[in-house]
Amino acid sequence: MIRTCLTAAVAVALGLLSIAHSSPVNIFEKPTLQKRSSAHIIRECTVPGSFAVTFDDGPSAWTHELLDYLKIRGTKATFFVNGLNYNLITDPEFSAVVKRTFDEGHQIGSHTWGHMSLAQPTTDVSSQMRQLDDALLKIIGVRPVYMRPPYGETSPSALQWLGDNGYKVVNWNVDSRDWQHPLDFKSDFEGYRLALQNPAASSKGYISLQHDAEQATAEAFGMLAIEYVLSKGAKIMTVGECLNANLRLMSSLNNTIGNLELKDPAGFLNNKFVTNARSGQRFSIFDPARGSEIATCPDMNVEEVEEAIQAAKKALPEWGQKTARERSVILRKWYELMLENEMDLAKILTWENGKPLAEALGEIRYGAQFFEWFAEEAKRLYGEIIPSPAQNQRMIVIRQPLGVVGVITPWNFPSAMLTRKFGAALAVGCTVVTKPAAETPLSCLALCELGRRAGLPEGVIGVVTTHAHTKAVGKHLCESRDVSGISFTGSTAVGKILLKQSADTVKKMSLELGGNAPFIVFEDADIDKAVDAAILSKFRNSGQTCISVNRLYVHSSIKDEFGERMRAKVAKFNMGSGFDKGTTHGPLITEAAVQKVHLHVEDALKQGAKALVGGDFDDKDSAASRIGYFYPPTVLTDMKNHMRIANEETFGPVAGIFTFETEEEAIELANSTRMGLAGYFFSKDMSRCWRVAEKMQVGMVGVNNSAISSEVAPFGGVKESGLGREGARQGLEEYTQYKYINMGI
Ligand code: ADP
Repeated sequence: MIRTCLTAAVAVALGLLSIAHSSPVNIFEKPTLQKRSSAHIIRECTVPGSFAVTFDDGPSAWTHELLDYLKIRGTKATFFVNGLNYNLITDPEFSAVVKRTFDEGHQIGSHTWGHMSLAQPTTDVSSQMRQLDDALLKIIGVRPVYMRPPYGETSPSALQWLGDNGYKVVNWNVDSRDWQHPLDFKSDFEGYRLALQNPAASSKGYISLQHDAEQATAEAFGMLAIEYVLSKGAKIMTVGECLNANLRLMSSLNNTIGNLELKDPAGFLNNKFVTNARSGQRFSIFDPARGSEIATCPDMNVEEVEEAIQAAKKALPEWGQKTARERSVILRKWYELMLENEMDLAKILTWENGKPLAEALGEIRYGAQFFEWFAEEAKRLYGEIIPSPAQNQRMIVIRQPLGVVGVITPWNFPSAMLTRKFGAALAVGCTVVTKPAAETPLSCLALCELGRRAGLPEGVIGVVTTHAHTKAVGKHLCESRDVSGISFTGSTAVGKILLKQSADTVKKMSLELGGNAPFIVFEDADIDKAVDAAILSKFRNSGQTCISVNRLYVHSSIKDEFGERMRAKVAKFNMGSGFDKGTTHGPLITEAAVQKVHLHVEDALKQGAKALVGGDFDDKDSAASRIGYFYPPTVLTDMKNHMRIANEETFGPVAGIFTFETEEEAIELANSTRMGLAGYFFSKDMSRCWRVAEKMQVGMVGVNNSAISSEVAPFGGVKESGLGREGARQGLEEYTQYKYINMGI
């Protein structure tokens, strides 16, 4: 019994959570802003390296799974072997697990109780401890770290022995005075209750019991613990549940990626996945719905991007000289493979980007269509014969591939942004070197695997995964003489940097930059349709779309009606993990994105805007206490033109309603920024529709419609929103150059 109680206390100190035989409350339920208290628990269990695992039960079903999981995420944990369970050491299966744990770089610790503590101040270290020590030395060849219990003092003689025998002794970070060692069940029970009240423990919001506890004890403790913790507003679950929940998440990621043979996220050079960066560095990829790491990728640098450029250069002649039809067959196959693997691709996308699974699936299908489209379109890359003004000359124009193209993509459409560049570039015979966004490289790698299966020759696509070296890698791509063009989708600020960096080598630039789209609702509009379209454009991908509505200009006569209808619909949104069935809207990509949206809303509210719904983000809680990167969908009214939202792209789930009186005023307001990507308006007056569409200073106009993206239509902006067009027939222009041939006859 004492062992049970002690172990329970230890597990608390370790931040583990386990209540045997009682029904746990699942803390992994959909996080909402109202349920922040559970964030502590999730963080404890998911922050790399922050958790420890006990081997008290011997190798349980999840031990290997856990080790697999840790391996994938590149995280090291500490595993504790309980000194009282020395008999486990003689179990060959257990020895194998301990050895594997050690070989994979985790710390092995030992913990042992009464015989080491003042509560049972044995002067000698028990034979059990010696046996554990001997056994571990035999298995792993080094002495484990000894964890000093938090609930009593380790006896000086025991410490002496540990020191003499080369142990590193570490303390649990709990004030031992609050952890009076309970000697019998009753006081243990009481002690446990006290322990729960210990600010050090309860502030972390978790409690635990060991799963080898006897049933009655566990239930008693469990119920008490549940009652106490729930009364504090926290959520609890067992350690097995906790880890298993994590493992389930990881297993699903692993399985999805496993189907695509991407167990170790890596760069992709010469049709091979390169697991390690030369620097040895890796960077983390996070699940934005939980803020927890899901995988790591090699952090590559200039050396690797140069290698990819040279591989692409080498592959260029052969790829470029293939017939359009030959390339088309590979692209078509790639398209089919995307559809065959659409659910895997969608899951990977949801994992790293956070968007709801259905939306992710939509992106995969939309993205695949670029391969299909360009597979066909490449066959029609017609040249021209010019009627010659001279009898003895013939004049011909042919179109040739640009060369090696540097492709840099953002995280908001990690799949479709790539396919629309890859599709066009490869179709015409270019080869590419890609740098996907550090937040979302997995979708890119999954696509590459499918491209390899579709038959892409070596070197045609290279992927350089990088985070710390983003600037250096980008600069190298822009300055390389072996790269002929850059195709970039991202912010205007970075687009300008790339443009400048590419000036010396006079590269062809295809830039799809920031938006800040206006959406005008005239007094004669169909309000219901306008509300639906505004919501679709504003809140898709939680507002993280470059053609998202940013400024809603609503005629003053219908402002209240429009606002109310929008409010009613937005209020029904269900934010959560993209994997949860009921989720309509996912998280933002990072905490920084949340803070930017918060800043924009605060700025508007301070200057007189009113929130019809949302806007109630509480920044008092530190980021650490929230789960994932959520911002409540918000509709603001009474917006003014000097507010931030009017002038900067918010890139989040916030709709700001401005008013206007006349058509001229609306157009002037819509055109009042340096951005010019997409613009939308609603009106039933046909003459007005022509007038306004022609006057809007944007690359794309949605008239009585906001779902404008299509692989068959040219996507791109004017002013500081970019250069060039993607998709459509025009999309091929970016990757080809004209050659005029004059033949004397
Ligand atoms: P966003 O605001 O959408 O993240 P960014 O322009 O910052 O837009 O990012 C788009 C892409 O550009 C990402 O792949 C990012 O890593 C990359 N990027 C950011 N800064 C640079 C830079 N200085 N040089 C090259 N690429 C960059």
